[in-house]
Amino acid sequence: MTQLTDAFARKFYYLRLSITDVCNFRCSYCLPDGYKPHGVANKSFLSLDEIRRVTRAFASMGTEKVRLTGGEPSLRRDFSDIIAAIRENPEIRQLAVTTNGYRLARDVKTWREAGLTGINVSIDSLDARQFHAITGQDKFHQVMAGIDATLAAGFERVKVNTVLMRDVNHHQLDTFLHWIKDRPIQLRFIELMETGEGRSLFQKHHVSGKVVRDILLSRGWVHQLRKRSDGPAQVFCHPDYQGEIGLIMPYEKDFCSSCNRLRVSSVGNLHLCLFGEQGVALRDLLVQDDQQEALEARISHALNHKKQTHFLLDGNTGITQNLSFIGG
Ligand code: SAM
Ligand code: SF4
Repeated sequence: MTQLTDAFARKFYYLRLSITDVCNFRCSYCLPDGYKPHGVANKSFLSLDEIRRVTRAFASMGTEKVRLTGGEPSLRRDFSDIIAAIRENPEIRQLAVTTNGYRLARDVKTWREAGLTGINVSIDSLDARQFHAITGQDKFHQVMAGIDATLAAGFERVKVNTVLMRDVNHHQLDTFLHWIKDRPIQLRFIELMETGEGRSLFQKHHVSGKVVRDILLSRGWVHQLRKRSDGPAQVFCHPDYQGEIGLIMPYEKDFCSSCNRLRVSSVGNLHLCLFGEQGVALRDLLVQDDQQEALEARISHALNHKKQTHFLLDGNTGITQNLSFIGG
């Protein structure tokens, strides 16, 4: 088996696959005006067969973990079929989804039966009114019920993504810590990232995860080691807490040196970095099963062009207008 490796000897075990751009939430930092079609004629999202083919190629090149994202991935009517199709690859031992959680309470059991192994839910506030203000949806209680349903369905833990924002939630650390004290939740603070459309919001609300890290370390939280297909979070644990805290700090020096992931957008473009350029079209090689060899060759070749780092610190956000476009 060829293990995908780039020019900087980074190995890629992890694929983040966006299956739709559409979303029913209007998060202030992502789609503040709601989802709008891009106006590209005949644009359709990857079909079930195309998803099957692209993940088969990645699996045969060493991918162990796939995360489904979007947009809101659970808006796809064939979401359970997508899960089952990806799990046909025995190499893919972990299959997770990042979701806004609105369908969890209703569907999580079915997803687990189809083969899903991990759930990340995005929750930026533990206050129902503030949650509504951030997401444009009055669904806080529905999402919280979804977390309970996820644990009841047999998932051993749930990861929660919280975008850290100055004057919105950065001063609520104790509320979050209280929440995870007796719950098997890994709560991950993600630093707000600058996007093409989100510049002024970024300037107003970005705060470094270091603020949280310093508090955690001063209170006896311990930094844990990372495994090879883990995501980018620095994870901290504490003997008095059942839950864990993760910090995702893309602005920190050396964030990119441990990069182990690649992205495929909902229209089938390979993106070497969340903040890269146009992407390499794969769709013409997803038409038939017998194109797999050519597909693998194109993916391997593209990797030679993966850059050492993103250029976010220079204010260069690449083509990423907002994160619903290729999935956060
Ligand atoms: N709709 C799903 C959700 O919200 O979980 C999946 C897609 S969403 C783009 C994936 C993750 O990216 C979410 O956790 C979201 O909070 C995060 N995100 C979106 N825009 C962001 C930004 N500008 N900075 C940091 N995180 C962002
Ligand atoms: Fe939708 Fe997720 Fe973006 Fe919120 S962060 S608008 S839920 S895609």
